[in-house]
Amino acid sequence: MTREHRQPEVNIGLVGHVDHGKTTLVQALSGEWTDQHSEEMKRGISIRLGYADATFRRCPDTDAPECYTVEETCPDGSESEVVRTVSFVDAPGHETLMATMLSGAAMMDGAVLVIGANEPVPQAQTAEHLMALDIIGIENIVIAQNKIDLVDNEIARENYQQITDFVEGTVAEDAPVVPISAQRGVNMDLLMQAIEEEIPTPETAPDTDPQIQVARSFDINRPGTTFDELMGGVLGGSLVRGRLHTGDEIELRPGREFEEEGQSEYRPITTTIRSLQAGDDLLEEVGPGGLLGVGTGLDPSLTKGDALAGQVAGPPGTLPPTWDSFTIEVELLERLVGGDEIEPINTGEPLMLTVGTATTVGAVTSARESECEVNLKRPVCAQPGAKIAINRRVGTRWRLIGIGTLVG
Ligand code: GDP
Ligand code: MG
Repeated sequence: MTREHRQPEVNIGLVGHVDHGKTTLVQALSGEWTDQHSEEMKRGISIRLGYADATFRRCPDTDAPECYTVEETCPDGSESEVVRTVSFVDAPGHETLMATMLSGAAMMDGAVLVIGANEPVPQAQTAEHLMALDIIGIENIVIAQNKIDLVDNEIARENYQQITDFVEGTVAEDAPVVPISAQRGVNMDLLMQAIEEEIPTPETAPDTDPQIQVARSFDINRPGTTFDELMGGVLGGSLVRGRLHTGDEIELRPGREFEEEGQSEYRPITTTIRSLQAGDDLLEEVGPGGLLGVGTGLDPSLTKGDALAGQVAGPPGTLPPTWDSFTIEVELLERLVGGDEIEPINTGEPLMLTVGTATTVGAVTSARESECEVNLKRPVCAQPGAKIAINRRVGTRWRLIGIGTLVG
């Protein structure tokens, strides 16, 4: 059976505390997630990227919100019309690291904050993820108050009050709170309506040079694949602007590490695009929106195990500079999530920095009032003015302490 292709138009992050129902919600909205018939390679890419696409539809002659559905056939037997396809970015498995959430945020046009109705608000990651959205400036937010099937009316209302108190004064202050049960599919229409209203498709300039933020990279070959069947390395990520075609030449920066006489140096890599997967389809040409699987001519050993995650790709000669060290203009938060005051940054201390989809550790070589210079362990490719999330080691964890701007 052939199916009309629909490239997703918008990337929506699923954020919130572990076990509050993010993955269950994505599954409830995207039937294709569990599609057993799609080709193994395509399915493999989707799963490893941790995304799933959902096509929102509406039933004719029905009022909102009841008109919203993901089914092709409406309750009255009529056929539903496509509204748009959205791509949900969900941290895979039990991945709860802030760094993952922050690098995923580089690809999000909006977010659904999932909050379990059966626990006090906020749980640790609920607070931390909301702060990250605030810092990165993701303003289009819908709050899903999940698991309402587990609580009675009174607790649901109390929990709702806790949510509105908690988001007061944050970027999510005006976000709608939609009570749902992801597991039982309750109020999915209301949630889709809220997403349609709050998270619009971003406008994109088609004529600019294409640029991919690489979030994952992998080797899709099974062990023992013979040389003539070997597939090139695959990049997973988001096209932030422009258009890409199969056959295009791309450059990756910072590229690959070379060691010469004890000195390490990164050099850009160039390769050709062999295949493009958007949503569930293989295409000749893609635009921004959704997450892409990009088949390349690279030796798969170069892309194995996320080796190229955090890099930037685009036509040769068009990419931002690569930095081994840079100066950041720093804006520290007042307190850590959970209460402790944040001390100024010290010369010599290690910081974990998230720039676009890249996460790198750096040593502070000079710290002043509102600026610091950092030597990076792994270089990053970024434009001056880029936003940088700054994390400090507190106890056994990296904690978000502020936001920086790349000066140069
Ligand atoms: P995640 O860690 O946020 O991705 O959470 P999951 O989607 O993996 O869900 C965690 C657990 O909560 C699973 O056992 C789900 O079946 C359950 N769960 C998710 N949504 C609901 C819901 O609406 N009602 C109930 N009763 N359980 C839910
Ligand atoms: Mg999950």
